Amino acid sequence: MSDTTAATLILRNGRVLDLDKGQLISGLEVIIAGERIQALRPAGQAAEPTARVLDVKGRTIMPGLIDCHVHVLASNANLGLNALQPNAIVMYRAIPILKAMLERGFTTVRDAGGADWALARSIALGLIAGPRIFASGKALSQTGGHGDFRARGSLLATEPCTCCFRAGAIARVVDGVDNVRLAVREELQQGANQIKIMASGGVASPTDPIANTQYSEAEIRAIVDEARAANTYVMAHAYTPRAIRRAVECGVRTIEHGNLADAETARIMREHGAIAVPTQVTYEMLAEHGEKFGLPAESLAKIADVREAGRQALLHFAEAGVPMGYGSDLLGEMHEYQTWELKIRAELLGNLEAIRSATCVAAHILERDGELGCIAAGALADVLVVDGDPLSSIECLLGQGERLDVILQAGKVIKNGLSI
Ligand code: ZN
Ligand code: ZN
Repeated sequence: MSDTTAATLILRNGRVLDLDKGQLISGLEVIIAGERIQALRPAGQAAEPTARVLDVKGRTIMPGLIDCHVHVLASNANLGLNALQPNAIVMYRAIPILKAMLERGFTTVRDAGGADWALARSIALGLIAGPRIFASGKALSQTGGHGDFRARGSLLATEPCTCCFRAGAIARVVDGVDNVRLAVREELQQGANQIKIMASGGVASPTDPIANTQYSEAEIRAIVDEARAANTYVMAHAYTPRAIRRAVECGVRTIEHGNLADAETARIMREHGAIAVPTQVTYEMLAEHGEKFGLPAESLAKIADVREAGRQALLHFAEAGVPMGYGSDLLGEMHEYQTWELKIRAELLGNLEAIRSATCVAAHILERDGELGCIAAGALADVLVVDGDPLSSIECLLGQGERLDVILQAGKVIKNGLSI
């Protein structure tokens, strides 16, 4: 089978994962024409003479995975140092990170700070292999916030934060209602798909305790206002009930991490129609490997505060009916654990919910329901053929994509380990 997208491709003898029913459906063929799924039809019909037929021999056919919280340009776990790398080195280091994500079955990602339109476009043009990117451009951070990596004493806060202009910076520092409005407009003009803000303290930054809220309500409302004007939405990094609550009350749509959310906060999120994007795997991996990979001591000390609570927050979200998207948020060499979040989710919430978080719920977050994260007529043909049943054993989706026999991205064959 060639790797062109032109002809019709028929996936035969598979079991199609139905994400609503939580079942594998036999007796259906998936017909792919160009970049989209044209139809699902009952098996047994003769293939069109020009069609290529791939017998998947009883394997699972499921949508490509979607990770709603990545930083593809974060090749160094120390984000302060990451920002200081020369631009070309940042971009070249992103190439294997992107390729490995795709090989793990992530055909789409939402970048939560760093990646921009140009990188997304480079992938769309086929210049480099990687997931389709929904870029945030630079995340917005207040002075002294989670995106401000200036160390105490080394630079005055009144000096411009030069890292904001480098490729390796995940965030830019901007304060004040008028200035944040301008920053949102600039990010959108530069091609951001959605706007990311830092609405509470964080782990990876040196001078902002987790318990701090960040940005005034007036600033958050202005940011949301500008995003809505451009028919998009705001995603906010937030840990504490206080930070989460004010963010969703100001109109933020997705809460990133949300580790310290309690039952009441989850209920408020549900009330406002907010969505959670937990990123539990990053705390597990930072605790285990952070020191080895250069995470600063200030950051290591913060991990314990959010690691255990994060597991509890997932249960609060589930209890309150808050939809949860899949997030990994891994940095540097820890990217290889991207699929481990599936294992954590499966343990806490079951396999189906784990898979839904990285498919249909994720597509909803991206406002691409029916187009991404599903095997359905009209959807983009992002398809995985999996050796195993992920509903009964999530292991077939873990690791580095070893059990993904076929990966299609918009109909293009990225991997085919099956003979035709
Ligand atoms: Zn964050
Ligand atoms: Zn992040």
